[in-house]
Amino acid sequence: MSTSHGSLLAVYPGSFDPLTNGHVDIILRGARLFDRIVVAMLRNLEKSPLFSLEERLEIAREVFADQPTVEVDIFEGLLVDYARRRGASVIVRGLRAVSDFEYELQMALMNRHMAPALETVFMMPGESYTYLSSRLVKEVFALGGDVSGFVPPAVVARLGALQTKG
Ligand code: ADP
Repeated sequence: MSTSHGSLLAVYPGSFDPLTNGHVDIILRGARLFDRIVVAMLRNLEKSPLFSLEERLEIAREVFADQPTVEVDIFEGLLVDYARRRGASVIVRGLRAVSDFEYELQMALMNRHMAPALETVFMMPGESYTYLSSRLVKEVFALGGDVSGFVPPAVVARLGALQTKG
């Protein structure tokens, strides 16, 4: 389970549109467990994202600027190909509730089928993040609600900029 350097590299893939405190919780847990964790943002997942991929990259880099073992990157195509290229041995995914399980299980088994040596590790966030999703944050924000308790300050600042743009 280790790379040629003998260190354990994990990839945490997702759209992170936007990054929430739930994602941050999982990333910090992963950073404690693995030598290095790459937050890997998928290009082209959604047609009209709240934030562009470049903005999402910038936000995550800002949030983890003081975490030297957290890296933020963009990938396209198959996750297993990206993980192989990076020399990662683990895929990290967050599990909030039973409702996440079915889709996550399907994906994990499909990924295992394509890359048997790559292990998917599910991590549970702190309880207060179990109801939190990027989709819900987007909905609350679109309806004028306060989402500052759910996302890092770097996201709040950019949401403010979106609002003033109209
Ligand atoms: P995706 O489109 O791949 O689901 P997301 O950015 O929504 O991308 O989520 C990335 C990963 O983070 C997924 O494994 C998802 O289950 C997990 N996740 C999302 N929100 C939370 C949360 N509040 N707590 C823990 N894990 C979460």
